[in-house]
Amino acid sequence: KKLPLDSSEEPGVRQVNGACFSRVKPQRVTKPRFVAVSLEALALLGLNGEEVMTDPLGPEYLSGSRVMPGSETAAHCYCGHQFGQFAGQLGDGAAIYLGEVKVPPGQDSDLLRENPSGRWEIQVKGAGKTPFSRQADGRKVLRSSIREFLCSEVMFFLGVPTTRAGSVVTSDSRVVRDVYYSGNPRNERCSVVLRIAPTFLRFGSFEIFKQADESTGRQGPSYGRHEIRSQMMDYVIEMFYPEIQRNQPDRVERNVAFFREVMLRTARLVAQWQCVGFCHGVLNTDNMSILGLTLDYGPYGFMDRFDPNFICNASDNSGRYSYQAQPAICRWNLVKLAEALAPELPPDRAEEVVDEYLDLYNGFYLETMRKKLGLLKKDEPEDEILITELLQTMHNTGADFTNTFRSLSQISCPTEGEGEEEEELVRKATELLLQQCASLEELKAANKPTMDTRELAMLLSMAQSNPALFQMISDRATIARQLEILSKLKDLMETSQEELQSKHAEDWSGWITRYRKRLARELEGQSDVRALQEERVRVMDSTNPRVVLRNYIAQNAIEAAENGDFSEVQRVLKVLQKPFSSQPGLESPAWVGRGQTTDQGERD
Ligand code: AMP
Ligand code: MG
Ligand code: MG
Repeated sequence: KKLPLDSSEEPGVRQVNGACFSRVKPQRVTKPRFVAVSLEALALLGLNGEEVMTDPLGPEYLSGSRVMPGSETAAHCYCGHQFGQFAGQLGDGAAIYLGEVKVPPGQDSDLLRENPSGRWEIQVKGAGKTPFSRQADGRKVLRSSIREFLCSEVMFFLGVPTTRAGSVVTSDSRVVRDVYYSGNPRNERCSVVLRIAPTFLRFGSFEIFKQADESTGRQGPSYGRHEIRSQMMDYVIEMFYPEIQRNQPDRVERNVAFFREVMLRTARLVAQWQCVGFCHGVLNTDNMSILGLTLDYGPYGFMDRFDPNFICNASDNSGRYSYQAQPAICRWNLVKLAEALAPELPPDRAEEVVDEYLDLYNGFYLETMRKKLGLLKKDEPEDEILITELLQTMHNTGADFTNTFRSLSQISCPTEGEGEEEEELVRKATELLLQQCASLEELKAANKPTMDTRELAMLLSMAQSNPALFQMISDRATIARQLEILSKLKDLMETSQEELQSKHAEDWSGWITRYRKRLARELEGQSDVRALQEERVRVMDSTNPRVVLRNYIAQNAIEAAENGDFSEVQRVLKVLQKPFSSQPGLESPAWVGRGQTTDQGERD
């Protein structure tokens, strides 16, 4: 539904009922200039990035400071469950829709399969206030913009479904931000990312129709507007799931098939995140794409040292969005989507679909994990155990996620008559993997409770003496986790580096021996052992990336850019466009080393 364009410069921030978007103009920034562009992403729009970069008007248009003739700009209204609570109308106060670009002729057919709509939606994120900006200003700063820009593109090159980013523009316009709740507000440059996707519609887009929530009493601003919901469902299915539209003449069956496809894509997406060690950080329903794309890069993180409890969002005290919670949280989000689509999607049918999720997820996860381990010829039920034991060993030894997997292709299949050499091969492989493990000091540093230890001791004694009272503490999960960390730290305090090292060596050689036994079974019935070995290495090295966007890599590029040097952002992008191969002249040695830093770019 078209609402009249707000004529004032500052659009009236308000609750918008009965509409899923509101027309609004992006606000200009002063002296926009490019920090970086993604040639590949701009090519999707038929733009030549080199030309855009040198065109004085390039940054004007790509930051929304100027708008193409005919472009009807708007902001999308959506709701969402944030940290498990229905928050009502909350987005999009920060991104403005510029319009759609028809896919230029000649774009390859794979791309069209992924985007059957034949057009790309483009948005500027950080282009100023919209009716949905609530108390905020609709601006983004350089830190968060570079993080979103780089990771969108990196995920694409890693083969993970994602929204894309065409450019990041910075400017002389300023906003004040308190970095990381530091209490030291900084004056930062307004920056804008040009985002590209078939659509940015998300689960939360459908939650504007939600009835009053039992726990918060909040209601979607378009509650009861069934006709808009039908239109929105028709739009999404016709445009982005045309095969379903064609094959399912019955409306209810069509809707079930649509929901099943969203469920499947979501399961596949999360499996891919898990397999590349990516943690999204804010899996609220409003950050769940209706197309199964990775959406909204805030406090995300690629894991360095493997820890299933890895949390990359500093405000996530309970670990709701930790690495290992992601598969189950996405299932929960699917349940919320189903609720928002009822009764167009009958609840009993939705339940059946959601019940398929975990098996599907496990299937996708195992399929990719087998490739990561180079188990290509057989599916053995015990593979799941081998994988779990690998992760357990990585966790116990503080091994680097990316590097450990990348090292596995150097472990060869046992060959006949290997005999006495075997011990030596296992020893060498153990050495290799030990290089990826954390030292005692690193492990101690990683296991520091964030809560006061005296307070923890008190809570511990309460947990033991009065379990009923302990049960009443609302953030028990946080405390339990803190206690776990404390007990691990205690063990580490009582260990020496030598003891730790020999324990790690024992753990690894045990696993490697089991792994090689499994590899021996890969060879059964294979006549050309060498060919198999080569195939393994090829598959593994194109599934296990050599470099990912580690936090400190992004952070270095951000700091350089904040000091006026944008070349590092472009260099990071260039290296990560080929994450599976080595690019000696381009990458810094540290990029394939181990490191641990937490995100600084989150509060944007
Ligand atoms: P997020 O937690 O990043 O998913 O953000 C949720 C919503 O908060 C967005 O859709 C925006 O509506 C709003 N928001 C985030 N940052 C800003 C900002 N700088 N100005 C206005 N609104 C914002
Ligand atoms: Mg968001
Ligand atoms: Mg965000």
